[in-house]
Amino acid sequence: MKLRNFSKIYDDQTAREIIRLVVPSYVTNYDVMLKNRGRKGARGKAYVDGSSYHNGGHQFVVVSVAPDTIYPYTFPKRKGYLECRIRNELEMLVHMLAHELRHLWQKKVPRGHRVWGARGQYSERDADAYAIRMVRKFRNEGTPYLNELARLRRVIIDESAKKEKENQNDISRKPVHSSRPGSA
Ligand SMILES: [Zn+2]
Repeated sequence: MKLRNFSKIYDDQTAREIIRLVVPSYVTNYDVMLKNRGRKGARGKAYVDGSSYHNGGHQFVVVSVAPDTIYPYTFPKRKGYLECRIRNELEMLVHMLAHELRHLWQKKVPRGHRVWGARGQYSERDADAYAIRMVRKFRNEGTPYLNELARLRRVIIDESAKKEKENQNDISRKPVHSSRPGSA
């Protein structure tokens, strides 16, 4: 898998881990390109037969996400597609890559099981159903790198909260002239 990443949002490691999470079985020898998009939202394209002009004949997918998209973002239900609700920009990448890579799987496994109601080999409904499954999986599991980032962030937040509390305790512990019984 060759990644060409022109995105302003996603670093290479994030992109690679999400690709690893969502790539369907039997899909091999593919490349991925990530781009920015001017209009809000995202779009993708799967070159199931490759493109000699773009990519030396290899299969590849292109995903463009707009950096100023507002979340949660909903892909409306329209003909052939399912409604998909996306909570943040990481889920957006999961959704888009899963959808487009599922088209490569549809090419590879023309008679494989499709979601109920899917029509034809390259069903959008089937690709969306797969993407919804992958977003759910991502919500549950994350990826090793992103989980570690989140853990470190929690440690930093916990420590600064602890420090703040300590400072408050210091302030509230005013010097008191006490003459408790029994004290010297
Ligand atoms: Zn599609």
